[in-house]
Parts: sequence; structure tokens; C-alpha cells
Amino acid sequence: MQKYVYEFTEGSKDEKDLLGGKGANLAEMTRLGLPVPPGFTVTTEACRRYLADGVVPAELRVQVTRALRALEDRVGRQLGDPEDPLLVSVRSGAKFSMPGMMETVLNVGLNDASVRGLEAVSGDERFAWDSYRRLIAMFGKTVLGIDGELFADAMEVMKQERGVTQDVDLTGGDLEELVDAYKKVVKQETGRPFPQHPREQLDLAIKAVFDSWNTERARLYRRRERIPHDLGTAVNVCTMVFGNLGPDSGTGVCFTRDPATGKQGVYGDYLPNAQGEDVVAGIRNTLTLADLAERDPASASQLYAVMRRLETHYRDLCDIEFTIERGKLWMLQTRVGKRTAAAAFRIATQLVDEQLITLDEALQRVTGEQLARLMFPQFDRSADRTLLATGLAASPGAAVGAAVFDSAAAVARHAAGEPVILVRRETTPDDLEGMIAASGVLTSRGGKTSHAAVVARGMGRTCVCGAEAIDVDAAARTARVRDVVVNEGDVVAIDGSTGEVFLGDVPVIPSPVARYLEEGLDAVLDQADEDTGELVVAVHRTLSHADATRRLGVRANADTGEDAARARRLGAQGVGLCRTEHMFLGDRRVLIERLILADSSAARAAALEALTPLQRGDFIELLEAMDGLPVTVRLLDPPLHEFLPDRTDLAVRVAVARERGEDPAADEALLAAVERLHESNPMLGLRGVRLGLVLPGLFAMQVRAVAEAAAERIKEGGRPEVEIMVPLVGSVMELHLIRDETDGIIAEVAEREDVTLDIPVGTMIELPRAALTAGRIAEASDFFSFGTNDLTQTAWGFSRDDVEAAFFAAYLDKGVFTVSPFETLDEIGVGRLVRIAVEEGRRTRPQLKMGVCGEHGGDPDSVHFFHQVGLDYVSCSPFRVPVARLEAGRAAVSRDDTAAGLAGPR
Ligand code: PEP
Ligand code: MG
Repeated sequence: MQKYVYEFTEGSKDEKDLLGGKGANLAEMTRLGLPVPPGFTVTTEACRRYLADGVVPAELRVQVTRALRALEDRVGRQLGDPEDPLLVSVRSGAKFSMPGMMETVLNVGLNDASVRGLEAVSGDERFAWDSYRRLIAMFGKTVLGIDGELFADAMEVMKQERGVTQDVDLTGGDLEELVDAYKKVVKQETGRPFPQHPREQLDLAIKAVFDSWNTERARLYRRRERIPHDLGTAVNVCTMVFGNLGPDSGTGVCFTRDPATGKQGVYGDYLPNAQGEDVVAGIRNTLTLADLAERDPASASQLYAVMRRLETHYRDLCDIEFTIERGKLWMLQTRVGKRTAAAAFRIATQLVDEQLITLDEALQRVTGEQLARLMFPQFDRSADRTLLATGLAASPGAAVGAAVFDSAAAVARHAAGEPVILVRRETTPDDLEGMIAASGVLTSRGGKTSHAAVVARGMGRTCVCGAEAIDVDAAARTARVRDVVVNEGDVVAIDGSTGEVFLGDVPVIPSPVARYLEEGLDAVLDQADEDTGELVVAVHRTLSHADATRRLGVRANADTGEDAARARRLGAQGVGLCRTEHMFLGDRRVLIERLILADSSAARAAALEALTPLQRGDFIELLEAMDGLPVTVRLLDPPLHEFLPDRTDLAVRVAVARERGEDPAADEALLAAVERLHESNPMLGLRGVRLGLVLPGLFAMQVRAVAEAAAERIKEGGRPEVEIMVPLVGSVMELHLIRDETDGIIAEVAEREDVTLDIPVGTMIELPRAALTAGRIAEASDFFSFGTNDLTQTAWGFSRDDVEAAFFAAYLDKGVFTVSPFETLDEIGVGRLVRIAVEEGRRTRPQLKMGVCGEHGGDPDSVHFFHQVGLDYVSCSPFRVPVARLEAGRAAVSRDDTAAGLAGPR
């Protein structure tokens, strides 16, 4: 028979998959001999069976009976016994903690008879009836689906009748009457009386906890936290102990270190004469652990000893729930506690100094995401602020600027040097320019995977999305929150780490961690207070260890000398991708226009001639900033029409000019070119290497500029290490054709300039065919760089510019994937192509250098995957470089080979 029920004495902390986090840790504490009330855990497997079949497995009922009887024998009382009842709590507990998302029922086993038994043994009438009315309300809400307000209303009526304001002022007799009122609510709402049979209560409660796995809010939470929907929850059935049995009882939560700041020393809240839910609900002010030590020194010192014991055992910050029942301490829960990013780094290094963990382990205790969070500028919390609304914290950071309501205004004000916040109901790919120009993006609609959120995160822009209280009227250029109207130009501030939106300016302070990363330790330590100092040193030590440990190199995607220099300060070991198209925007767009419009080879040559010195200058800057380190320059990739004006705009311009009797010849020529170059699927059209092969001279010009830039750097005493990369190759033949020309140009420049030029020529692997024929492509390629953006686009057939806004929210909701494959590499699909290409490429050329330059290069989970498949480096945006360094170190010390696969699609 499948084993669905484990007593607390049977499990251990390593069985979270089966017993859930809470169950596994209760078992662990039981094994340690700590005072845990006895009980048992129904496994996640039982939950999965129930959710699949829609009925509770028959074996489960039998096993619950046996575990319950064993429990009854142990404590010498029976569930719901009228004389001296055993009462139990029924609590959810999934593998990953989902705070407040699922259900709990306390005091199961109370009924009209056993409440009197409880009254007799406790000698406390009020306590007994209070426990019963809590059961009916919780059970009514959770198990029977009754609106909780109905119970709250009944309580209000009672308090008014008695002329009291607080629950605690009601007497035992009052509460006995309230129980009657609650029972009437149950009868009225369900047509049945409140179930009196203790075992029926237990069975229904277990089923309700199973069901709570799939509530809307639980699904939403899992989506946000990337927790798979098919894990199910365990159910813990635990002997009730009571913190509300008088002044010598109470309940509390504590942490072995401060989870908010990471400060050393225990930290906790205690509420005398209360049950756990009262602490969470914040009804009364809590006491500190020091207060507890004064009231009940014996329990407090026992609690301190348990905390020390648990921290030593788990070798990490533990968060603990406890109850004191008439002077006896009980442990109700422990787990390795959640903590802020700052606390994570500080605690990890404290534990190293205390010789409880190794530096390798410390590296495992922090994440790249946490480091990223510490790098964003912060609002000064001590400043005066006017909160306007709260949305979702979609992309961290603190941004202040003039509110603008469309992309054009964002671009215009930004160009005039004014920081702006782009405020939209939601964004679309059309808003991209505005998003790039803006310091932050605020939307009133959409979740954390909305276009605004995804794109903002991708480019490190601060974003708050789904701030639904804000009514955005783009046409009127206003945003309204209740009676406050924000007009274009009014200053707003958004906090992407909290989701808060403020009216007016809020001072920002640069994050000390970002300053450390750019300026070094000393620059920060000089002015830092003790907490900040400890944090920065903790980051420094962890990151240095990551650097010493990692096998993966970390480069940056950078197109300008300035970006490259910044990336280098942040630890980049080269440029993995210079997108040369960015060099043809702005003023230079006209030069590309001229190239496109050229109607003779002489005109084309002239256009290219004009571009060469500009390109050469760009490359010199880049090579200078990265002197001595590799710089991969990619030849032009996007379709040419991206450099031309919009078709509709042009048509309008031509029509208007004709109307006015002006000469629209230039615009007509452009329009003709736009129409000639129009493609239905431009991303699958004339771009990348295809463009290089059909537009004579373009790639040659770029290669010449690269070679001449390298030559000039050498003459100036530099050490340029430039590499040329060909985009969108699908066949080795394409690469052979390009190489024939490229190698010739490099040789020619070397001879003319009288220098030795060693410029490797490689390819991107960003089409499935390239991955599948990598063995052949390696014959003509000095290196591979995986373009996982296009590889994801083409492997899935997802248009990368459209799908995230169009239907990813629905796909995430339906569980097709738990994270966008454009964000975290889809290991089993796209990753398989990467693996094939790595293996086959190296079979042809064992020393073939391989990296990745798609966005995934800076994504923590993906970095682990790239480590595992044996790439040489990852390349990512400059501000992700420290994140990638840390994650590459973590990947190197990780023993968990499945880590990278956790979040991938099914
Ligand atoms: C890629 O496709 O992953 C890549 C890096 O190129 P781009 O994003 O410029 O298409
Ligand atoms: Mg690409």
C-alpha cells in the first residue's frame, strides 16, 4: 500500500518533496528531541492523487485512522472526547513556503459535547467557548466556503449588545451565545448543521487544505515565485497546544538573526494570552523576547537554547513559531528563514566567520537576483513622501521624473535633458523608444509579466506595473487617482522594489553596493556606517570568492566605449557582443538611407565610404576601453527597413507635400524603398548574414573598419583583441562565403598597415539549423556565440517582439511554462539545441571557444545551465555583469545539477 501518512517521528528535513517544508521540519525538530506537539503529516503525493482523481484515496482514510489512533494512544486522549478532548490543528505545508496562501483549521475535535470537556479540564469557560467559536468560523470559511464577514458581523452585533469594543471583553457566557449565532450562520449558508463528528471535521479539513492548493491567489503566488503548479501540498495534523490559556501562556515568532538587516542577535515578537493568528493579524502590540525573558525566564531561556540548537543544526538563519502553554514551551514550526538581500549577504559571511559554513556554502546562500536588488539606487526612506498609489514591484530601482503619457513626449523631454517617467495604461512594443528614454515606467494595468514589466526588467529600467488605482488618460495626458490629477510634466517617483508611486520628488541615494562595484571597496568604506560597511564587505568577500571559483568567463554586451568601460569596472572580461546596428542610429541613419537608396555601384561605394571612418572611430573607442581583453564585433544584423522611416508616416508626408504643391521626390524615393524592402516576417527575412551576402560591400566596409581600428590601436601601443562575428548563419556555406571575403580584407589591411592582425572570425548560433549542423559550421568558424534570443524565437516559433505582450500571461497562467523562455533559457528545448551544438562543434574543433550573448547570459538559472554544458563564457548587459559573476561562481560550487531545470517549461 502506498504510504500517505508519516508520523512526525518518521520524517526528516530532507523530505520536503514528500512532507512539505513544514512537515519535514516538524519531523526534524522531533528527531532532535525538541518539544514538538505530536502529530502526523499527510504527504504531497496524497494531495496530488486527490487533485488528479477528485476523490480522497481510500488508503489515505485508513492510514489517517491508524496515525490518529497512535496519536491518541500517545497523548492519552481521544479526538473530540467529551470528557478530555484531544484537539488538533490541520495546516497546509507545501515544499516551498507560500505564506498566507493556503488554509489552516485550528481546534478540530470541538463540538457541543467536547467543548464542555475542554471547559472542565482547562477550568476556563471563556477559553473553551472562544476555542469553539474560532473553530466554527475557521472551518466555516475554509472548509464550507462561507463568507468570513458573516462571522465577523455576528461578533460585532454581540460586542454592540454587550457594549464592549474588544473581543477579549466578551465573557464565556457571551461566547457561548456567539457559538449559537455562528452555528446559525453555518446552517443558513449550507443548509446543514455544523458537523459535530470529530473525524468528519478532520476529513473535511484535510480535503479543504488539498483544495486550497488551487485557489486563485495560490496560483498567482506560484506564478510569481516560479513554483510549479503540480507539486501539491502536504497536510500537517498536530496536537493543539494553547497560547490563550491565561497570562502564563502566549505565542510568538522569532528569528535567530534579524531577517530584515542581517544584524546579529535574536529577534522576535511575543503575544501573551493569544493564539498564532492573533500575532499575524496584528490585533494587539507584541512584546519583545526581552519582555518574555522578564515574564517567564525559564521558558525564555529554553527558547534561546532551542534557537541556538536549531541554528547550529541548520547552519543558517531559522525562523521559528512557538507557543507557551501554561509555562510549557512548544515548538510549532521552524524553517530556514526568508530574508532580504542585504541580510542574505551579511548572514552568509557571519556564518563563515563563526566557522559554521564554508565560503563555498556562503556562495550558495546568496543569489544574483539579491545582488541585483542591492545594486539599484534607493529612495531615501527618511524623506517626506506623498504616496499616490501602490502597484506591483516589477523591476527594482527608484526613479523620479516628469510624468509623460506617450513615447514621443518621453523621447522629446529626455532629449532635452529632463528625466521622465513614462505613464501608460499598458505598454506595447511601440512604446519601446519611450521606455528607453524614460527613467522609469509606470502602468495601471498588467502583471509582472506584462510587456512593461518584462521589457523594463530586460533593460534594467525601474518599473511599477498594474497600479490599478491610477486612471490613465493618454489622450488627455493625465493620470487621476481619486481627486488627485497628475498632468504631463508633474513630477512623480516610483519605487520598483516596493511598487510604491509617489507624487513629487523623493530624494534618491545611490546604493552603496553599486558604488562599491564601480569604485571599489575603499571608496565606500570611508563613509559607510557599521551596517552598510558590513554589507559591502560581505558582498565583496562573496563576489571575490565567486571570481576565484568560477570557470565561466563573464563578458558584457556593449556597443560604445563608455558602456565597455563601465562594464570593465563592473568586472567584465571583454565584450561578448557589440551590436553594430546601434552605431547607425541618430544622425547616421541618413548615411544608411543613402546606402539603401543607392542606385549604382558608385553611389553605393560612396555611401559606404562615408560610413567607414565613423565605424572605425567607434571600434577604436571600444578597443581602447577593453584593451587587452576580447571584443566581439557583430556584423550588421537587422533588416534594413529598420533604418527607414515608418511606411505610413512617409505616405502621409508624401501626400501632404503633394497637396501643398511641394516636391516630395526624396520622400517618394524613400517610400519606394520602404515598399521594396517590406517583409511580412522581417525577423525571418533579409537580415544577418543574408544581408551581407546580397548587399555588396556592407560587411566588407565593417570588416575593413574593424581591421583598421585594430591596426591603429596596435600602432598606439594597445593590445586589441578583436573578433568578428557573423549573425544568423544557418548553413556553413554562408560562412564560407563571408570568410573568403573577410580573411582577404584583414590580410590586405595588415599588409598595408604593416602590422600582424590576428582576428578570429566566428558565428552566432541562433537558428535551429545552425545548432543541428554545428559540426559542419565549426569547420569555418573560429568560435561560436549562442544568440539565445533568436534561438528561442526560432525554436519555439515565437515572435520575440510580440508574444510576451500578446499571450504569455495566459501561458504562464495555464502552466505551459513557469517563466518566459525569453527570460530563463528553456533548458529542455532550446537548451537541447545548445547542447547538440556544443558537442558537435567541439567534435569538429576540440578547442572551439563558445559563449552566449543572448539575454539569458545574465539570467541566474540560465548561467547555471551554461556552466553545465561547458560554455567558456557568458555575455550580458553591463549592469548584469556582477550578477553573472556571482552566479557563475555559484554554478561552479553547486552540487545540485537540477537547479537550472527547476523553472523551465514542461
Ligand atoms: C540573440 O539573438 O540572442 C542575440 C544576441 O542577437 P539579437 O538579440 O541582437 O538578435
Ligand atoms: Mg540575434
